[in-house]
Amino acid sequence: MMSPSDEDLGLYVHVPFCRRRCHFCAFYLEIVQPDRMALFHSALIQEISLYRRQQSLDGRVLQSIYFGGGTPTSLPADQLASLLTLIRAAWPTDVTAEVTVEAHPSSVTIRDLTVLTDAGFNRISFGAESMADKDFASIGRFGQVQHTAAAVQAARRAGFRNINLDLMYGLPGQSLPDWIRTLESLTQLAPSHISCYALTIEEGTRLAQDITRNLVLPPDEMLQIDMESAAERFLADAGFSRYEISNYAKPDYACRHNLLYWTGGEYLGLGPSAQSYLHGIRFGNIADLDAYAACLNDNCLPTTDPTILSASERQRDALVFGLRLLRGVPRKTITASERDRQIDELVAKGLLHADHDRVRLTSLGRRYADTVAEQLF
Ligand code: SF4
Repeated sequence: MMSPSDEDLGLYVHVPFCRRRCHFCAFYLEIVQPDRMALFHSALIQEISLYRRQQSLDGRVLQSIYFGGGTPTSLPADQLASLLTLIRAAWPTDVTAEVTVEAHPSSVTIRDLTVLTDAGFNRISFGAESMADKDFASIGRFGQVQHTAAAVQAARRAGFRNINLDLMYGLPGQSLPDWIRTLESLTQLAPSHISCYALTIEEGTRLAQDITRNLVLPPDEMLQIDMESAAERFLADAGFSRYEISNYAKPDYACRHNLLYWTGGEYLGLGPSAQSYLHGIRFGNIADLDAYAACLNDNCLPTTDPTILSASERQRDALVFGLRLLRGVPRKTITASERDRQIDELVAKGLLHADHDRVRLTSLGRRYADTVAEQLF
């Protein structure tokens, strides 16, 4: 697993549409409507064109392109293909670049998937979430669990070799045996990568409201810890290495795009609400499709809240994100005034492993990753 060079660059495209909003989801998105998708599509083309004219990425080569959302496959496959062609014509792209599209298993056909591989997408990330129908009901998820197996088979027939499945654990009413059954079903599909996210309750979501009204129990933290441990053991036995707190991969299939985020690499985000980190400046796009499109219509980039990261903030990010990786961070990344004493204390508490060169979180430390990072900064 390599670290990015200064020249490495990722491109993220936020496609803000879904068929239905899942009860836990707080992402910026709208429910699919043809006129809104047409507005987004033309605004996105204008955004690509404006960045191209500004020449702000000149001299850089894209190492990864990631279409996320929302559900990118809400857009017709031909449209996704032509957007990718436009991006590759606008900026040089490494021949080995990882090109990912997120997809809902119930929103793709073999024809769509073949259009995507023909266009150059070489990685697909399906939001599987669970393999139990009752879990889909409890989180308000559109589709049926059996669509996941069909979608993975179709993706493979279309030529995808790099297939990720996203899972969530600690769902309302989900037991430890339920979770293990989901892991068993998922690994039988032989993906190259699996992401396992603990359910968190985001303010303003339907799930947060249901918990406030006592209609649903909040996630049981101890059960989630048991589920995380079970996933680590189960997936190791199935040949997956855990390389980040939530991510497991077969050899050589760690997600290059996400590694850019975790190792201080730069990226440009396109689409409403997309985040960027470019030339040492962090900024975001307006999280409102109408305002985003209106801005682009006036030939302005729809960016907001630029922050120039100081050296100290960059060091802090390197520590917070670097500790999420199982390989940890070089000892010299740690800036705490009494570094050695702080490290020794955290080692004594069972939260860190440390040697002469590097420090990394223990499995206990991974549960308190942000707190440990704060103590070391
Ligand atoms: S499919 Fe994904 S992006 Fe869309 S509502 Fe559900 S969790 Fe959110």
